[in-house]
Amino acid sequence: MRKLRVAIVGSGPSGAFCAEALAEEAEYDISIDVFEKLPTPFGLVRYGVAPDHQKIKSIVASLAEIFEMPGVRFLGNVTVGSDITMDELREHYDAVILAAGAPLDRRLGILGEDLRGVVAARNFVSWYSGHPDAAFDTSLLDAERAVVVGVGNVALDVARMLVRTPDELRRTDVPEHVIEALAEHAVREVHVIGRRGAEHAKFTNKEFLELTEVASADVVVSPSELATPEVESARASAGPATSRLLAALQAAADRPLHGRSRSIHFHFDRTPVEFIGDTAVRAIQLAQTSAPETLSTLEAGLVLPAVGYRSAALEGVPFNESTGTIPHRDSRVVEGDEPVPGLYVVGWIKRGPSGVIGTNRLCASETTGAILEDAPLLRDAGSSPEAVDELLDARGVEVVDWSRWLAIEAAETTRGAAAGRDRVKLHDRLGMLAAAGVSVR
Ligand code: NAP
Repeated sequence: MRKLRVAIVGSGPSGAFCAEALAEEAEYDISIDVFEKLPTPFGLVRYGVAPDHQKIKSIVASLAEIFEMPGVRFLGNVTVGSDITMDELREHYDAVILAAGAPLDRRLGILGEDLRGVVAARNFVSWYSGHPDAAFDTSLLDAERAVVVGVGNVALDVARMLVRTPDELRRTDVPEHVIEALAEHAVREVHVIGRRGAEHAKFTNKEFLELTEVASADVVVSPSELATPEVESARASAGPATSRLLAALQAAADRPLHGRSRSIHFHFDRTPVEFIGDTAVRAIQLAQTSAPETLSTLEAGLVLPAVGYRSAALEGVPFNESTGTIPHRDSRVVEGDEPVPGLYVVGWIKRGPSGVIGTNRLCASETTGAILEDAPLLRDAGSSPEAVDELLDARGVEVVDWSRWLAIEAAETTRGAAAGRDRVKLHDRLGMLAAAGVSVR
């Protein structure tokens, strides 16, 4: 039986689903190495899905089973590009799948975007998720008003996390220092800004309804936001998802406020024009999108643009700067018009940053389908797991394999037990490596 060796770059859902599909394949004997720059697996499931969405996060149990399948190895704490180059990967593996996700932020491209206090939502998400590379200045939480730009599900996640109480947060796995900072913060009002009308909101009905059920905050939707001809026409002709969402927004607009200590306000048809401030943001200037000469100013000491993620180019791999994705034909990476032999792509770096975890299953099956179709023609790299281990070892790379990850996980549950919680995440790389039993050279 032909043996195939496949490297996957990235251990989030799209990479994991590829590993699963390949490991289950009966026609070939496939061994799969999943490279991950962090010491921890699962990508955005660990560092993007909101901590209070434990039900969605429970998918880690199924993802873990994939990494424990025969033929699949997890190589954490290995950065492709520096610890091992893309050329070396291609030399050691018959096929390489790029599943590196979207670790950057889209920019708004307006004045003042670099002022202190304007922080891409991803930084805040990474911080409260305990990402080891997260940098978030907690003094920004002294602001009484925060603005979230964008009306997608990430915008709702960050708005919700800003109003969660410490008791609610203790039911999650967020690190203790995050709970303490959020417990003390001064933010009372969160304003969420959509550049188009409410009928174009990208967040889903389920997530909006969840927000209305948060006990600590009122959700404020002015009836005038929904009394537009466009919303009226969408009510009459839009599909079921938009109709449900508009009905939920209307119900929120009609409901009397509870007078809670915090509030989340929705504004639509508002385009950010400029962030105002000297060194730190003081306010955001907005133009009415449908009447751009109508300007308004909203004071805020913290602004979190949640306008989408962006993939990063990988050295030696074609990249389309305008779409922020790797160009491909049927999941085969292309350079110009020509497929690059043995190079495949999956997930957000292939499709762009949209879709839920499950979307990646179909995406992964397209990618692995392409590999299996090409398999008879793929070059036999003639390498071995030992050769890759030796290469990394010679460079002093401390690989966090699956058993080391399990040791990190055990340390997190032990911490949790000590604090009366299920799990408390480790959030610093050295702490993770120590828990993994790695002696840092
Ligand atoms: P998204 O759904 O694409 O939302 C991005 C938002 O930013 C949109 O409202 C967009 O408005 C706005 N935007 C983009 N450029 C802008 C600009 N220059 N000025 C003002 N606004 C701008 O992206 P996301 O919220 O990052 O979510 C990414 C994916 O993850 C989505 O598929 C999402 O559903 C998923 N996700 C799911 C969950 C969940 O299921 N609970 C949680 C988090 C994320 P336009 O529509 O006008 O472009």
